[in-house]
Amino acid sequence: MKKILSLLLIFSFLFVSVFAQKGSYAEIKQLQSPQNPKLGFMIHGGAGVIKKGSLSPEKEKEYRAKLEEALLAGYKALQSGKSGLDAVETAIRIMEDSPLFNAGKGAVFTAEGKNELDASIMDGKTLMAGAVAGLRHVKNPITLARAVMEKSPHVMMVGDGAEKFAKEMNIELVDEKYFWTQERWDALQRIIKQEKEKEKAAGEGKRVSQINDLRLEPANKFGTVGAVALDKEGNLAAGTSTGGMTYKKFGRVGDAPIIGAGTYASNDACAVSATGWGEFFIRLGVARDIAALMEYRALPVQQAADMVIKQKLQKLGGDGGIIAIDKFGNMAISFNSEGMYRAYINSEGKPVVDIYKD
Ligand code: ASP
Repeated sequence: MKKILSLLLIFSFLFVSVFAQKGSYAEIKQLQSPQNPKLGFMIHGGAGVIKKGSLSPEKEKEYRAKLEEALLAGYKALQSGKSGLDAVETAIRIMEDSPLFNAGKGAVFTAEGKNELDASIMDGKTLMAGAVAGLRHVKNPITLARAVMEKSPHVMMVGDGAEKFAKEMNIELVDEKYFWTQERWDALQRIIKQEKEKEKAAGEGKRVSQINDLRLEPANKFGTVGAVALDKEGNLAAGTSTGGMTYKKFGRVGDAPIIGAGTYASNDACAVSATGWGEFFIRLGVARDIAALMEYRALPVQQAADMVIKQKLQKLGGDGGIIAIDKFGNMAISFNSEGMYRAYINSEGKPVVDIYKD
């Protein structure tokens, strides 16, 4: 009797799993059909300590307006039938051109008082990707990242070489002065002062942290920008652009231009763009890890994102967050910081802009 019962159990389990798989396969087919009008678009403007009340009402208004402008421009591109890559590039360029974000115009300063910009973009359909790092004169790094993906046989270009390629591609170059903003300069001066105090304390034999906690600097806590999209062909795309972290050492590269860390897109799973303390995102391969949890463990996008951000990243001591979208248009936001500038188009097609945790 026991044997019959267990056989019955095994058969019903097999039947249910085959049936369930067929169901989801049919769903995928339907969502990927060109007739399906489902679109999805999300952006972020960086994660960090953004407590309620820490922004003046005017500043908050400015952030919300710029996020909405970028979101709507990207979404309009999708609605007019353009690709997810077009939408991602359009929205990121708008944020790069604003001094509010730590990308393009508003990039933070390195320890040497320079601006070094990083960006990347990925096409979920083909797994083609483009990344650039250590740029000093490229006005819109996301556009150069896209050119690396589409017009070169490479995935990543850095420094002078990348800028030489920008020139060849007729991509706009600007004088270094273009990236100078008072707010970011002041942030650098504050860190330099802290560092001098630390050195002095160490000289006096006091115990000081050996690790430079760059994330403790308030102006450093946010500003990287990113976007993820699901277009009308059912293709996913992701992009990220940043100035990195204030007082970063010469030549330091963060996670934003590392495919699989700060950016990833695959039609088999999801599109992800990250922001946060880059060193941790690189070590955990955050963006690819989220996609892998969906591919190999069939986790829903929000669960996969929370597992990586709220468990793994948290445990390792890093902070930051991600935005992600899957091939069905399900969206996920996950961060373990106080806040994250973010915006998305909700299921009714309306823009939603959020900054704080709750
Ligand atoms: N992830 C960026 C970096 O480490 C910084 C940030 O997102 O705030 O370069």
